[in-house]
Amino acid sequence: MSEPTLSLNTKPLTALVNTNKPLDYDGYVAQGGYQGAEKAVLQMSQKQCLELVKESDLKGRGGAGFPTGMKWSFVPMFDDDDGPHAKANAPDNKYLICNGDEMEPGTFKDRLLLEGIPHQLIEAMIIASYTIGANKAYIFLRGEYFVAAKRLQSAIDQAYQNNWLGNDIKGSGYQLDLYLHTSAGRYICGEETALINALEGRRANPRSKPPFPQVSGLFGKPTIVNNVETLSNLPHIFKQGSEWFKALSPNSDAGTKIYGASGRVKNPGLWEMPMGMTIGHVLNDKAGGMIDGLNFKGLLPGGASTDFLVAEHLDVPMDYDNIAKAGSRLGTAGLIVLDHLNCPVGMVLNLLQFFHQESCGFCTPCRDGTPWVVEILTRIENGLGTMDDIDALHKLCDFMWIGKTHCALAPGAVEPLRSSLKYFIDDYVEHIEQGCCTYKLGKQKVSVGGSHG
Ligand code: SF4
Repeated sequence: MSEPTLSLNTKPLTALVNTNKPLDYDGYVAQGGYQGAEKAVLQMSQKQCLELVKESDLKGRGGAGFPTGMKWSFVPMFDDDDGPHAKANAPDNKYLICNGDEMEPGTFKDRLLLEGIPHQLIEAMIIASYTIGANKAYIFLRGEYFVAAKRLQSAIDQAYQNNWLGNDIKGSGYQLDLYLHTSAGRYICGEETALINALEGRRANPRSKPPFPQVSGLFGKPTIVNNVETLSNLPHIFKQGSEWFKALSPNSDAGTKIYGASGRVKNPGLWEMPMGMTIGHVLNDKAGGMIDGLNFKGLLPGGASTDFLVAEHLDVPMDYDNIAKAGSRLGTAGLIVLDHLNCPVGMVLNLLQFFHQESCGFCTPCRDGTPWVVEILTRIENGLGTMDDIDALHKLCDFMWIGKTHCALAPGAVEPLRSSLKYFIDDYVEHIEQGCCTYKLGKQKVSVGGSHG
């Protein structure tokens, strides 16, 4: 038993992950499971719970990095003299939603947690729901995550059987119902207000903000939407405290992060490590570096909707501030690695085709901009582009940028495009001047595996 205990201290999120046969209720409890929820629901007031989450400096792991405790504090919930459960039972007045709609290309970290340790997420949702005073909670799950859906439902059933869900949880007087909802399958459902619309049975268009979901969300009630990895930290914070959580990381961003790598690296996979590991450490020490015969050309550090970084950035710590200073975003911390035999123009075209397909079509810059970019990139990729096309791409980057669209899909689509124009402009010019893509001649088929640790 000593090894899991040691791992739980350094890799709390993944130490107990088993993707072949996740822990059932008894197994999870035997490893200390539900102790965090027990402490929260039976020993602490909602206000104390919120203060603990604030003190921990936990930030959202879905991409934006917003402080979790601050987000929760926007939900109206406390009286000055709140008792342990006084405000936690007001049926249908607030909601917690776990955003498990993991569709960002190159990102598969939440799948590991959903399939490998479902009870951890359920425990986390009990803690979060209790803290904000929600009596109903939903897991909004990517529709293709069939294995996760089956395991989550089984774990939910076990949690009901053991009175961690339902009425009068463990004699506390607090009640919570948890529902699993599988998505019909659109990338835009990962945007929290589009997700809420989808959950209400409406078309998944993002909503105008304000009002923010914390004030008017699901069915017009205060709603918190948190990412799977974000929530999964809670049982450990409640068991081991905020100082322990902050000490997991050597820099200002607290806790651990599940880093990922995909592309033609030797060992693509997922690894939980302290916040702030350098890009080079993830790429070379964990992912094993490039496959023999391939050179590193660049990478997207946090999924498809982040800016490219290149060799000069390998020493940059992967935390919110340092990646931003380098000109990109931490995003999901899933590296998508580009090698010297793959065409950056073709890669960006592939990504923009995805964003074009997934645009909800609500606002003009995105609805018209993404296909326009695809048309131009296709022309360049096929050797039919001109230098005027480069100017047009720059203009479209401005046209689709932050503040000009209704949600972040279009600006996210712009990030790999604009940074490829910065770092790989020679490749664009080569396509235009030579009338062909020389990468096609050098492409080779390489089989890859995967791991997590
Ligand atoms: Fe829809 Fe795109 Fe506008 Fe977002 S930016 S609201 S996805 S059209």
